[in-house]
Amino acid sequence: MSLTNAELAELLARQSESESGILVRAFRRAARNALSWPESAAALIAQNHSLLELRGIGPFIEKWIRGWINNSKRVSGKIPLLRRDFVSLADARAFLKKNPAWGKNLRGDLQMHTQWSDGSGTVAEMATAGNERGYEYIAITDHSKGLKIAGGIDEANLRAQGREITAANKSISRCAESLIVLRSIEMNLNPRGEGDMNSRSLSGLDLVLGSFHSALRVTGDQTERYVAALRNPHIQILGHPRGRIYNFRLGLRADWRRVFAEAAKLDKALEIDCYPDRQDLNVGLLKLARAEGTRISLGTDAHHPWQLEFIHLGLAAAMRAKIPADRIVNFMTVQALRNWVAGVRDGSRQR
Ligand SMILES: [Zn+2]
Repeated sequence: MSLTNAELAELLARQSESESGILVRAFRRAARNALSWPESAAALIAQNHSLLELRGIGPFIEKWIRGWINNSKRVSGKIPLLRRDFVSLADARAFLKKNPAWGKNLRGDLQMHTQWSDGSGTVAEMATAGNERGYEYIAITDHSKGLKIAGGIDEANLRAQGREITAANKSISRCAESLIVLRSIEMNLNPRGEGDMNSRSLSGLDLVLGSFHSALRVTGDQTERYVAALRNPHIQILGHPRGRIYNFRLGLRADWRRVFAEAAKLDKALEIDCYPDRQDLNVGLLKLARAEGTRISLGTDAHHPWQLEFIHLGLAAAMRAKIPADRIVNFMTVQALRNWVAGVRDGSRQR
């Protein structure tokens, strides 16, 4: 059994802890990158390929990785909590190959950013990337105005973006393609679960994600925060629920059974943010969500068009947790998705 990319990430992270100066950051960054390499580094070496074709690897880091792989180095001891329970994209892909039918259920991606906030692609570029993946829909979810650091947009910009999305949809259908770009937003929620956009601008969107981006290092139980967010009438999906970040932040604590039960009662969804640094929800919590019958949404949180491939991390996590296909929002047709959102909005789906 050769070294996996996840093990390489851990070795790189540990190396960063015994370095000083710029090498600390270089190894830390390489550890994060290792989670998003699409192929196993050990397999590339076995096939006599250079590792320089992997994203973010330079000759210096390549030499270290080659050394570990050639010397059959393993990860010893426990993986620290800050890095535990993260899967590499290469491993997720290998896992998904065991049941190819599962991934075929996927019809779209429900979290991504564009140049309107902190993404690098335009709406049209994200649509092209979604189309190349064979999607029926993508949702554009730029940050809302309260998140200044990420270039969050206000109501006027959201309206202007809506016009751009309408134009993109028209030009897609002129090319006889079938992808639909949905209007959405990742609305910033304060710790009381309140959003930062006026309700009229939200009701014009196809769907609304809400996410916490503040007070993410508090250690006390945050169940009430989650319940308040889920009861916010303007959101249908709660994004990256825990707020954890690989090798940086553990994320929030809560009575997750209660959170999932509340979401199920309101027929709202919690997200698997598929970004390699996040993987949030993780498999352990997804199993609790399954027990409560909670809907799950998959979003890559892509900030570049190529990052739509992160979806495999979410698909693999949902499969490992045995989430039933009918609980996954992105497995719905666009019409079923719209009906679900309408039902959540008018409250007719509460049980
Ligand atoms: Zn976010």
